[in-house]
Order: sequence, then structure tokens, then C-alpha cells
Amino acid sequence: MNIRSKYGDYMNRSEKWLLIISILLLIIDFGIIILSNLTPKIILNKGDMKIALNEIYKEPGYHAFKGYFDITDQIKITNKVNNKKTGTYTITYSIKEKKKEYKIIRHITVEDRIEPNIELKGQNPAIVCPNKEYEEEGFLSIDNYDGDITKQVLITKEKDFILYSVSDKAGNKKEIKRKIEYQDTVAPTITLTGGNAYSLYQGGTYKEPGYQATDNCNGDITNQVKIIGNVNTNKVGSYQLTYEVTDEAGNSVSTSRSIIVMPKPKPKPTNGKVIYLTFDDGPSANITPALLDILKEENVKATFFVLNHGSNLDYLIQREHNEGHTVALHGSSHNYRYIYSSSEAFWTDLSIIEQKVKSLTGVKPTIIRFPGGGSNTVSRFTPGIMSTLAREAKEKGYHYFDWNIGSGDSGEARTAEQVYQNVINGLGNKNNVILMHDFSGNYKTLNAIKNIIHYGKQNGYTFERITNATPEIHHRVAN
Ligand code: ZN
Repeated sequence: MNIRSKYGDYMNRSEKWLLIISILLLIIDFGIIILSNLTPKIILNKGDMKIALNEIYKEPGYHAFKGYFDITDQIKITNKVNNKKTGTYTITYSIKEKKKEYKIIRHITVEDRIEPNIELKGQNPAIVCPNKEYEEEGFLSIDNYDGDITKQVLITKEKDFILYSVSDKAGNKKEIKRKIEYQDTVAPTITLTGGNAYSLYQGGTYKEPGYQATDNCNGDITNQVKIIGNVNTNKVGSYQLTYEVTDEAGNSVSTSRSIIVMPKPKPKPTNGKVIYLTFDDGPSANITPALLDILKEENVKATFFVLNHGSNLDYLIQREHNEGHTVALHGSSHNYRYIYSSSEAFWTDLSIIEQKVKSLTGVKPTIIRFPGGGSNTVSRFTPGIMSTLAREAKEKGYHYFDWNIGSGDSGEARTAEQVYQNVINGLGNKNNVILMHDFSGNYKTLNAIKNIIHYGKQNGYTFERITNATPEIHHRVAN
């Protein structure tokens, strides 16, 4: 059989076209079937990503295909990234088709990549004494994300530095060093008690007033001070003592004190005709002010051996001092039974009036007179007490004065005339130390004083107050 001829027999031209169309339709059908069974495919340009905190997420791109068709524009994106907060977030790329959702997820991790900060308070490098340890001056650690993490800072002490390290929650670590320099370049200081000038009289004793040395590293190093120099108190002149000290690091300091040895004050030359008016047992309200008025009017200076009367009379002690008289000490109580019961009792009694006079006048009194005088026998109930007190007075730096003319105004003299006679009868070519009293009511002395002064002036006497330079007048001690 001839196939070719057979076809040629019953396939005419139209039959051939029909066959071609049928085949084409069949191909299209298959295409539709294949196409309708294809699923969308989403492709991401990059996979999961990490970004820094606060970094803006930049979409790297995506595509979607279905078969050969680009359906990128059908992608719906759901972005849950919060770049202000660390964590892992999702971005969902999805396509919905025939109630079916095709999706792909990109994970975005937001990371804290910034290290914390450590701020050191105090000095860096720190200068520390070689014998001391560094005392922490403080620090502060702030993290961009965790906030204040100061409490988590670890401190490691090394020989020459201190290491501060801290990590934030994300593991970002920060380290900082504080350099420690062990050195002492600061010199000690020396303080001289009593200042850097000292003066004394020839023949006196130099008493070191004291000093103190302190060092920033070694503390009190007073006992290491060396004093260089000599003072010859027997020779008038200016001397210098140098105080030196060196700390352990070798820093030295020195300072000096000038010591002036002054010539001894010479006792005032007297022509042998000097009158020292002395008034005991005051002040009193009715005698002392009038007496001071007369002395002022006559321009005569006197000496007052005061007792501790009421504070209402304090102004008279001040007036005596202010008007140029010598305020000397007699005692507080004038109670013989008490003051001569013991040395201690006497000096205790005296110290009360001494403190008072010092506070009223600003001057420490050094002139004293024993109640009853140095020759008194009223003290015999304590044998030898006056000898003891006379010796102690000198040891304590007092000058004690008795008298060589008694006015009798506390005894036999009854009138101003008798007081006057007693005084002028006793005057002579000597230092005339006259005992009188300005106790309350003693008008006879008050009324005699002007005449005594006039007599003295008319007869070539000068009037002086008692000072430390006045030759002392002592009675023979009788107990
Ligand atoms: Zn007296």
C-alpha cells in the first residue's frame, strides 16, 4: 500500500489547515494549563541582615516571578523593624493569589554596636605619694543603650595604672587606663611657733618656742627637723637659727628665726632723790577717783597694789593703767589665814587678781607686794612661808616691793597732817618707796597727797612709778 498516496488521497488543502489549527489550539491549551499551575516565586536580593541601632534599613531589593512573568509589583511588604530597639525583626514579602498566600521572610537583627563610655574623675595621670596607695577619685560609665552602667565597671590595679573595664549588654567592651605616677615633689613645710623673730635681754635664756614640720607624704616629721646655728645670749647681737627638714623623697625646706639679744635695760639713773608713791588695798569708789584726779593734775605717776574688789570698780584699774600708773598686785583676798596657809594658797589667791588685771589692761603684771609686807610675822602660823614666797616670787619672774617709808595711814596716823608728816620726815637721798592706801574712806591720805607732792617737787625730788627696772626694796624676811 502506498501511504503517501493514501494521504494524498483523502487529505485535501482544507483538511491540512484544520489539522494545523487543531495542533496550535492544543499547544495553547497546554500553555494555559502549565501557566495556571505555576506558583509565584519571590526572590530576595540578600538574605537575613544585621543593622546597627538607629541605622536606617535600606531595602536591598526583591523580585517575584511567575513563570517567565515578572510579578514584582504584586509583592506586599510588611516591615516590623524598629531600629531604636535591639532585637530581631521580620520583613514579610508576600503575594496573595486565589486565596493562597505566598511569602518569604527576611530577618533583620538590630544590634547595639557602640561601646560604652568611661569617664574618669580626678587626675589622670594621678600623682601619688610613693608610700601611699592611689585613692579612687571616681568614674562614670554611660552606655548609649544601657544607660548608666557605672556599677558594672571592673577595676584592676596594676603597678603603674588602674584599668577600668566595662561591657554593655550587647557585649561591646570599653577599657580605659588611669596612669599612676608615684612621686613626691612637694617639699615639707615648717611652722615656727611664735613667729620668726625672737628677742631677749643679754644674759637671759633662749627658750626654743617650738616648731612643727609636716609633709604631704610623710605627715608629721617634726622630730626630723635639724636646727643649725647658735645663740650667744651673753653677747648683744643678732643671731639666726635655721630649721631644716627633708622628706623621704629628698625634698628639703628650711626656714629661719632671728634671735636678737638686746642690751640689758639699765636701771634708771637716780640722783638719789626719787619718790615712789604706792597705794595698797584699792581701788575704792570714794578715794581712788579723786586721788587719780590729783595725780593727773600734778602729772605724777604712782603705783597701785590692787585687790580683787567688785567688778563695779574695774574701771578704776583700767583708769590707773590708762593714765600711766603701774597697776601692781597685792592679792585677791588679803586674808592672812588663807594666803599664808601655804605657798599654793598664796599663788592661787594672787593668780585671780593677776588674771583680772591682765584682762582689764592687756598687760601681765609683774610687780607684787605681800600683804603685811615681806617682813610680816602674822604668817608665823606657817613657819618659813615668807622665805619660801620671797624665793618663789623671784623664780616666777615677779618683782616684789616692800617700802622704806610708812605713812601710817592704816595705823597710828589719824589725820592728813599726821600722814603728811610721816612721809616727809622719812624722805632722804634714796629711792623713797612710800606705803599709803587708797582703801575706802581713807580721806586723810587723799587730803595729804597734794601737799606731799608739792613738798617733793619743791625739794628736788622726782616722782616715778615702779617698773621692772626699779631696784627692789625688800624688808628683812622674818618668817
Ligand atoms: Zn594691804
